Amino acid sequence: MSLLVVGSVAFDALESPYGKVERTIGGAATYFAVAASFFAPVSLVAVVGDDFTKKDEEVFRGRHIDTAGLERAAGKSFFWAGRYSENLNERVTLATELNVFADFKPKLPEKYRTSKYVFLANIAPDLQHDVLKQVQGKPKLAALDTMNYWIERTPAELRETLKHVDILMINDSETRQLSNEHNLLRAARHIFKLGPKTLVVKRGEYGAMMVDSKGVFCVPAFPLEEPHDPTGAGDSFAGGFMGYLAGAGTVSDATLRRAMVFGSVLGSFTVEKFGLDRLRTLKRTEIHARARHFAKLTQFQL
Ligand code: AMP
Repeated sequence: MSLLVVGSVAFDALESPYGKVERTIGGAATYFAVAASFFAPVSLVAVVGDDFTKKDEEVFRGRHIDTAGLERAAGKSFFWAGRYSENLNERVTLATELNVFADFKPKLPEKYRTSKYVFLANIAPDLQHDVLKQVQGKPKLAALDTMNYWIERTPAELRETLKHVDILMINDSETRQLSNEHNLLRAARHIFKLGPKTLVVKRGEYGAMMVDSKGVFCVPAFPLEEPHDPTGAGDSFAGGFMGYLAGAGTVSDATLRRAMVFGSVLGSFTVEKFGLDRLRTLKRTEIHARARHFAKLTQFQL
């Protein structure tokens, strides 16, 4: 089943203790689409500027990613710069330039309108809502990611958009910021009142936690000896998670739990190298081998 995503397609400048890149392709929708396309066909909605070349667009080629909804506008592409601390756990945003996203009015290609799985990746909440409204009927599953930038600047729009999604998938500090609750279970209860019935909290090296009416499910992060760059790990997690569900075609407790593992698998590959470098060469066989490794990692008897 096809999976629709709207979110940023960007150029990033990245700094971590392992190195520095001045300009590389990034963006939440980019990481998401590449990660999800290992499991299901992806329909991409975003805008890029005239600085985004045909060569840059090759990141989407040879994969199951439809770019009919990738608009080109005069001006510069979204730009984001970030720097990571020594232990890679903290990051400061050095620059966020919306550029062509500031005036973007997405118009979904006709063939995207029947999408049953929708992911509203990190971008302005009113844009996310606009895309969701253009989907015919109620999708089988709609999930949303956001970040401090939007929680602080557009709280009313975010609250409105949240009313229409099934899953909120954000990191731990954003969960606390949005709910004003430090404890993640209390935060989940707060978030359920805003609309979503399921909360997935991405916790970096501590893995991920899913909370819904059935209870709590946790997966670890894959232990890596040499992580290099966490940029896009959250979006790759979301891509693995939603891609797996769209590929499975059913949303049940069992498929949601497996989706958590495939999310963690994709996130773990992304941090192994800078930017999209690791996802670009990733093979399906490696994904499945690591998923089996996860099963071993968490197996025990009582
Ligand atoms: P993550 O590391 O998963 O939080 O995502 C990093 C990606 O999100 C980068 O490639 C950025 O281009 C993109 N990004 C950063 N800030 C924003 C924002 N305010 N809105 C949309 N995308 C963003």
